[in-house]
Amino acid sequence: MVRVRFAPSPTGYLHLGNARTALFNYIYARHTGGKLILRIEDTDRERSKKEYEDLLIDDLKWLGIEWDEGPDIGGDYGPYRQSERTDIYNQYVEKLKESGHIYKCFCSPEELEEERKKALSEGRPPRYSGKCRNLTEDQIKKLESEGKPYVWRFRVPDGEFIIFEDVIKGTVEINVDEFGDFVIVRSDGSPVYNFVVVVDDALMKITDVIRGEDHLSNTPKQILIYRALGFEEPRFAHLPIILGEDRSKLSKRHGAVSVRAFRDDGYVSEAMFNGLSLLGWHPKGDNEVLSKEEIIREFDIKDIHNAPAVFDRAKLRWLNGVY
Ligand code: GLU
Repeated sequence: MVRVRFAPSPTGYLHLGNARTALFNYIYARHTGGKLILRIEDTDRERSKKEYEDLLIDDLKWLGIEWDEGPDIGGDYGPYRQSERTDIYNQYVEKLKESGHIYKCFCSPEELEEERKKALSEGRPPRYSGKCRNLTEDQIKKLESEGKPYVWRFRVPDGEFIIFEDVIKGTVEINVDEFGDFVIVRSDGSPVYNFVVVVDDALMKITDVIRGEDHLSNTPKQILIYRALGFEEPRFAHLPIILGEDRSKLSKRHGAVSVRAFRDDGYVSEAMFNGLSLLGWHPKGDNEVLSKEEIIREFDIKDIHNAPAVFDRAKLRWLNGVY
């Protein structure tokens, strides 16, 4: 049974890229008779706002994207929120400590910056040197007694290649030496995105992780965490980047990019649903005007293009006129 999730960070309005991710997850779940989960990734306490969460849920409902599971909120499903799952994450951090997959790193931001500059000047990838990997118990005790703050880093096996089959990108191969030992728990004790996302996806039994291509570089780190925790890896599908008509990455420079802005401008939900579905996917025939049901019926995740999707404002306006 297919289980997918949409995992937005409530740090702003739902933009077209994220709305397209939500839509493809939804369509895929409906097409396969699977389940969609909504997970609010609000661990960044400073940037996350409840009002953005409310707005993005309202936009999802307006688009007709319903999810199928979540905590009971008076007969309805609420979203899962990462801010409410701290105890779960801590439990799994403990497991990584016990298995020796993570270690304490006392390097200060200044020291790390020095290392980064040195690596760049020598033409090496700017990654952590692994300096604190082999500290002795005595050294650790001493640093701790001096009150030096530390993070927990993942011990990345040297020179290993992570290879995975991406449903859209094909075979992806990344040498772990490109990124080196990465942080799992920050000095304030909070676990990072790459870690919590793996714990959540594994515990929520997600079978397919469908998300934007901007997350592709996170995937090998997440795969290392899956393996360290003994979790089964999901399938990955990274959706192509969305470009503006000038072929540069779609941004505010191109005009309205949030679902909210199009709503305010009088666009109807059906046109938006249809228009978003065409960002990286195309129906088999020539007819691009399709209802939600027709899109769900025709959709196949394997037909998503690998090439960038160009957001065509005129086409969306035209579609809006049809509905
Ligand atoms: N919270 C992430 C974002 O909004 C998504 C994480 C994911 O899909 O793995 O970009």
